[in-house]
Amino acid sequence: MKKIVTGSCSLPLLVLALSVSLIVGCSSATNETVANLSRETVKARLNKLPSSLINSDLFNTSVIEPTQLFNNLYFVGYVSVGTFVIDTSQGIVLIDTMWTPHDAENVIVPGIKKLGLTPEEIKYVIITHGHSDHYGGAHYFENKYGAEILMRDEEWSYIHDPEAPVLTDPFGNLSTEIPSPTSYTSVSDGQTMVFGDTTLTILATPDHTPGGMSLIMEVTNNGEPHTVALWGGTGLPDTKKANQSYLSSLNYFQKVVNERQADVTLSNHPFSKDLIKNMDLLRKQPSRKPNPLVVGNKRLNDYIDSELRESVEEKLSSFE
Ligand SMILES: [Zn+2]
Repeated sequence: MKKIVTGSCSLPLLVLALSVSLIVGCSSATNETVANLSRETVKARLNKLPSSLINSDLFNTSVIEPTQLFNNLYFVGYVSVGTFVIDTSQGIVLIDTMWTPHDAENVIVPGIKKLGLTPEEIKYVIITHGHSDHYGGAHYFENKYGAEILMRDEEWSYIHDPEAPVLTDPFGNLSTEIPSPTSYTSVSDGQTMVFGDTTLTILATPDHTPGGMSLIMEVTNNGEPHTVALWGGTGLPDTKKANQSYLSSLNYFQKVVNERQADVTLSNHPFSKDLIKNMDLLRKQPSRKPNPLVVGNKRLNDYIDSELRESVEEKLSSFE
């Protein structure tokens, strides 16, 4: 893997691909930081968002009790979005970093400690895609623990693109400054990454965002191997072309899901699947058998066909 260091546009880009009005570019709000922005300002900005959005689970900042999902995989985060923590023999690997440095420091790190793991062992951060609910805390881990940020080239460009639709401070959780990571290691489609005893495969799956990725990862449950397929970006894009590309990505993802006989699916947005309910079960009975997250390959295909494919096909038909 080749590490790339780039001068970053360290601006407060809280990115969210939703049709809301607080769109800013890379050139604005350069002097705003968490420290100098008042609570009132934060609240006022938040109030400008449509109430349907603010009141949706996408903005639900209730913290979920940190949970062990498999022998080597854990979840920490909000109802809205979270981080998967993989405990490998080469250190901790994070998948996504929630919205902000504030979340990283106050939710992810304490969550990792509560799970009995050591944040100082965080070595790698994988960014599935460049919306700030996924990459917002990345710089914190780079800066504090020297973690290496892994993402696709297209997505690095996307988070630095002043023309990309971005949204400043939709969340109002006292962190409006989202510093981009200062360097990243480029990863690409089909790449298998080995972190000691743990293997992950990168799948390039645009077009929720241009450089979005999905992941296939090996986990164990009471020593039994399972294969997780994580679809990297669920919301549909705006244009016909991007939706066509999204559908191709989904077909590719499904093909690999079947080649690898994946039997678990996870989402970084716990509210969007049964993850919250299943994590409750796992916390009550950690060695539960069967693990409720293991749905089997057939149900995983059903999910892809009925939830993901149907929605993109419906959107594509609306362009005709
Ligand atoms: Zn997204």
